[in-house]
Amino acid sequence: MDKIGLYIHVPFCVSKCPYCDFYSLPLQDETRLDTYTTALMRCMEDWAEKGDWQADTLYFGGGTPSLLGGRRLERLIGHADALFGLLAAPRPEITLEANPADDLADTLAAFAGAGGNRLSLGMQSVCQEELSGLGRRHVSADVARTIADAHRAGLDNVSVDMMLGISGQTQKSVIATARQAADWGATHVSAYLLKIEPHTLYGKCPPPLPDDDIAATLYLTAMETLERLGYRQYEISNLARPGQESRHNLKYWNGQPYLGLGPAASSFLQGRRFSYPRDLTGFLAGSQPVEETDTDMPAGSAEEYALLRLRLTEGLQETAFCARFGKPLPAAWRQRAAALPAHLVQVDEQGIRFTREGFLLSNALLTHILHK
Ligand code: SF4
Repeated sequence: MDKIGLYIHVPFCVSKCPYCDFYSLPLQDETRLDTYTTALMRCMEDWAEKGDWQADTLYFGGGTPSLLGGRRLERLIGHADALFGLLAAPRPEITLEANPADDLADTLAAFAGAGGNRLSLGMQSVCQEELSGLGRRHVSADVARTIADAHRAGLDNVSVDMMLGISGQTQKSVIATARQAADWGATHVSAYLLKIEPHTLYGKCPPPLPDDDIAATLYLTAMETLERLGYRQYEISNLARPGQESRHNLKYWNGQPYLGLGPAASSFLQGRRFSYPRDLTGFLAGSQPVEETDTDMPAGSAEEYALLRLRLTEGLQETAFCARFGKPLPAAWRQRAAALPAHLVQVDEQGIRFTREGFLLSNALLTHILHK
């Protein structure tokens, strides 16, 4: 049986970034963190009673999970180990998302001491005007300090987020950010295009942004620069040094099982997709996750698998598809993909994959190939 990935959502932030659509609330006092940690541990116990799941990845996402501090992270990792055999798994991957604005030296030392081995930092840019425009609390020097603290704690696997297509961004500033990430020793970069979500501050009051053509150029510049610096793109927005791909996030794109805990956390388990409502009060009161039903693309279907796998540079592979569904890739998908320009989609006996330029049009390409 596949080992599962555990995801823990921590829905607190010091302040709300104007572009952010993740479920997060202002942290008013530290006692909320204790209450929330206890609720998460109870939730883990409920799930452990429902099945004999073993986990080999744990991802603390948010929100700002580094606000939990070392002691609460230790308790949660220990509980995940006791209930899901996390630390006994071969090469468990345990990731903490963190905001570099805060002094995290003690938190990172405790996290690493408890078995944590991967840090994901919201760097976004090294250009101060870009950071200010994004409403970030940190300055570039905070990222350097936090990565140095991580290395001192023994956390060598550090991922940084880089945002593309933001106000005033240029190819030069993208290259500067990519180079700095490499100089600081990042092993992994998530470089994603800013998307304006309607319910955010940006959605209500949009800033001046580069047009689609300029945003596409910035994306291609980031990918090419990072590859020249020794990273390999393995997903639309993710690059890694060899062997440092995110094993937890690969479970999402490979259609493997994962269990999400906390308000707004999603799961894919035993062929079902479900998520907890975006409601902290309800979660603390013991609310249950709600099944996600999509009649167009049922959970676990071949179409859903194709949609996820085509995010990866490896693409949709014939052998893996056959092993999973007991049949070859549908001929209609192959024919429709083959009719598309070769600089966007490649089709051969191994399967179907998008090129980097194809990734920029992936929604339209998927609709065409899958006829969705
Ligand atoms: S710190 Fe991260 S999760 Fe919190 S509001 Fe900003 S972008 Fe969203």
